[in-house]
Amino acid sequence: MAERITIVGAGPVGSLLGLMLAKRGFAVELIERRADQRVLGFSQGRSINLAVSTRGLFALHRVGLDAQVLELAIPMRGRQIHALDGAQSFQRYGKDDNEFINSMSRGGINALLMTQAEPAGAHITFDARVTGYDADRHALTLLDERTGHTREHVCDVLIGTDGSASAIRHSLQAARRSSFTEELLDTGYKELHLPPDPKGLEGRFALEPHALHIWPRKSFMLIALPNPDGSFTCTLFLPFEAQGAPSFAQLTTAESVERFFHEQFPDVAKLFPELAQRFLEAPLGRMVTVRTDRWNAGRTLLLGDAAHAIVPFFGQGMNAGFEDCTLLDLALEQAQGRGALDWTEVFAAFSQQRKPDADAIAELALENHIEMRDKVADPEYLLHRQIEYAMLARMPERYRTRYQLVTFSRISYRTALEAGRVQAQILREAARGKTRLEQIDLDATQRALEERFVPLIDAARSHLH
Ligand SMILES: Cc1cc2nc3c(=O)[nH]c(=O)nc-3n(C[C@H](O)[C@H](O)[C@H](O)COP(=O)(O)OP(=O)(O)OC[C@H]3O[C@@H](n4cnc5c(N)ncnc54)[C@H](O)[C@@H]3O)c2cc1C
Repeated sequence: MAERITIVGAGPVGSLLGLMLAKRGFAVELIERRADQRVLGFSQGRSINLAVSTRGLFALHRVGLDAQVLELAIPMRGRQIHALDGAQSFQRYGKDDNEFINSMSRGGINALLMTQAEPAGAHITFDARVTGYDADRHALTLLDERTGHTREHVCDVLIGTDGSASAIRHSLQAARRSSFTEELLDTGYKELHLPPDPKGLEGRFALEPHALHIWPRKSFMLIALPNPDGSFTCTLFLPFEAQGAPSFAQLTTAESVERFFHEQFPDVAKLFPELAQRFLEAPLGRMVTVRTDRWNAGRTLLLGDAAHAIVPFFGQGMNAGFEDCTLLDLALEQAQGRGALDWTEVFAAFSQQRKPDADAIAELALENHIEMRDKVADPEYLLHRQIEYAMLARMPERYRTRYQLVTFSRISYRTALEAGRVQAQILREAARGKTRLEQIDLDATQRALEERFVPLIDAARSHLH
């Protein structure tokens, strides 16, 4: 067989896909713009850590790496909410301690996947930037980042996993083979490193380690995710500009940064070394939702952020990209099983089937931005959560919160979005005019959920592989 598959972009999604396809017996080459980060170190100003959850872990399980990834990760069992007055409260993510998300470094997972892909047969060319792609001839234009030389590289099958600014996607649009929109969020982000504390919890953590910390402040928020060495990666999400409210445009001097952090996040501000200097030096990140109308053009396919970058507030960008890999791998397995692998057909069917789910998680991620920065501290939201806990106790096998559907299940994202809307409507009806759980008609709420919510979930479960 030995058909040559070229994958552009050896990020997490490209590296995982390379590993899967090499295991499936294809000759795989990965083309990566950057030098080998395993030698250089992945930091380069950004130390993004990610929450890996069920969809990502399922994909990793297919290549036998889920246990290794979990060893490098810290479990986070819920949200630790920090109010302005310093009070803290905990909101569990799942039904009990068995449902948690896993904090780990993006560089760490990327390195592991590359290191596994190479001996499986995938070859990675580093320092090779794609500057153009002719989908009719399957011809890439490659710039050697070290020598500045440009060459043409023709391939059999091309998969673009080159991230949210994908050169492959731009080339497909320029050739009118596909088109996309980019929606820039009016909020940007900066990351700050909170060092380990030898006098802290478990001898190294300045904050509770098994939680995702949120300082919700309505139009902005700070979050913190734990790292195994006891440090936390903290991210400030704040509008670029805002009338009469805090924004990055206002935080341009050491005094303004110090004042802002000490006013808004008093319990943690004092823990950052050289707060103002580090903050002012940190790069300002932007977040974009990319919607691509078709991911396929003949024997060319876009995958991961290249096809569907989303804002990070549901912790699903990489998980969704990994789920793309699972589903494509399954489609290839089936085609190989039939003894007739037509790449054009597989890519077309995959793109058509998967795109509605990418659109759904894009919506869910945008909605969760509001939930995290604003609603988690809102009394109505908290009452809804109490009703949900009551329903989880009454219907342990049949009820799932929207967060659980997205994060701890493999039900399609479009079902999670649709079922989540039905569920939100039922919760609103139940809580209308009420302020306490004792006032809620739990029997009627359960009946409504059994009739309108449970059938959607049951139908979706029956479609899982
Ligand atoms: C602040 C933040 C927090 C996040 N948190 C989470 C989270 O908790 N959980 C989660 O699942 N996701 C999260 N994400 C999203 C996640 O980081 C992305 O979805 C994921 O990295 C996408 O992987 P990818 O391989 O598709 O793209 P990328 O990670 O962008 O990798 C693309 C690769 O292609 C290479 N490349 C780019 N252009 C070219 C070119 N022209 N030629 C050759 N190579 C090229 C790049 O160097 C890179 O190696 C977060 C994102 C951000 C910004």
